[in-house]
Amino acid sequence: MPRDISTLLHDIFGFTGFRGVQEQVVGRVMAGQPTLAIMPTGAGKSLCYQLPAVALDGCCVVVSPLIALMHDQLRAAQAVGIRAASLTSVDADWRETQDRLRNGDLDLLYVAPERASGEGFRNLLRSAKIALFAIDEAHCVSEWGHDFRPDYRLLRPLLDEFPQVPRLALTATADAHTRRDILVQLGIPEDGLIISGFDRPNIRYAVHPRDGLTRQLADLLAEEKGPGVVYAQTRAATEKLAETLGRSGRPVRAYHAGLDPAVRARNQSAFIASEDMVMVATVAFGMGIDKPDVRFVAHAGLPKSIEGYYQESGRAGRDGEPAVAHLFWGAEDFARARLRIAELEPARQSGERARIAALGALVETATCRRAILLRHFGEDPPPVCGNCDNCLTPPASVDATETARKYLSA
Ligand code: ADP
Ligand code: MG
Repeated sequence: MPRDISTLLHDIFGFTGFRGVQEQVVGRVMAGQPTLAIMPTGAGKSLCYQLPAVALDGCCVVVSPLIALMHDQLRAAQAVGIRAASLTSVDADWRETQDRLRNGDLDLLYVAPERASGEGFRNLLRSAKIALFAIDEAHCVSEWGHDFRPDYRLLRPLLDEFPQVPRLALTATADAHTRRDILVQLGIPEDGLIISGFDRPNIRYAVHPRDGLTRQLADLLAEEKGPGVVYAQTRAATEKLAETLGRSGRPVRAYHAGLDPAVRARNQSAFIASEDMVMVATVAFGMGIDKPDVRFVAHAGLPKSIEGYYQESGRAGRDGEPAVAHLFWGAEDFARARLRIAELEPARQSGERARIAALGALVETATCRRAILLRHFGEDPPPVCGNCDNCLTPPASVDATETARKYLSA
């Protein structure tokens, strides 16, 4: 790695070194090699394109799926002096941004996939010097991914029109199927795949059958100190739970996409500044929010997928200090999932069924939860993790009898 890269790492970002596979990924990008980096939430994916964006001559175009996410990253990049801008429906300074791009006055340009794939944008890029295409949240390109965004599929012609510009796809969540799909869709060779470890050893996993959820959550809030996030299933449930749990005396706020934007922004900044606040939110909350000291995350119901669960629970303990991920589930969650799947077009049903089955294995297992998560991402787990409910307190043999009974009566 040339010296000026580590100088930039320190002088611009204030980091003393790379973490995990960052160095490898940045090295590939600097060498112009197409890359798919799979790195867990909090591993520092942004740096993998922001640093080359500053080091390389020309602008790095970042494709990102959410305006809120883009603007968070934009603010963070600008705060450290990176010349960054975005072209979204809510930006007023389009003319200026386009001029800056053409004049070589931008390091980073954030755009949504639907914009990036359009003819107008391609024309604009022809009149500028482009150093790198970064495709963030790249699992959105795959129908197998848990967040399919058809517009991601339209990016390929743009990438192919600038064959000399390296492409870097990044995601936290990709099982083997999704991974292969991303490589194929974005034209990245298999040897461009870099996977970093998924284990988050400081997160303790605990799964509980739902049995009076409100009381269970109130007990949890009495026990767990520090900032926390409770993920509820619906917007209505979010507000109702926030109100009930707020009676405990602990500061509690709600967050979901249907709230007035000013209220949402206020709740979010209050949470980021707080040392004991609990945010009751839909899964929309947390993406791109950089709060390293979240001490616990609780799912009030079954997540959508293992990927979703991993990503959401992974918002706890980014500072490396002990944190807990609680999951409350009930048989109704599976019944509801089955109904939802039945409504899908047939082609998507088997993928969804597999996702739900994987969740079933996670919540019903009497063995190590971490092992199930890690194997899901193709990683070999440690023999005993020592930091999940089943490893810490092995389930009593009653459970085995229970399982046997279930099979016998089936
Ligand atoms: P991701 O997109 O992978 O979830 P981010 O890019 O948002 O992760 O980075 C997560 C956090 O890690 C941020 O607070 C970032 O400043 C920090 N970070 C990234 N790289 C490093 C590093 N090399 N050393 C220390 N902190 C880092
Ligand atoms: Mg990110």
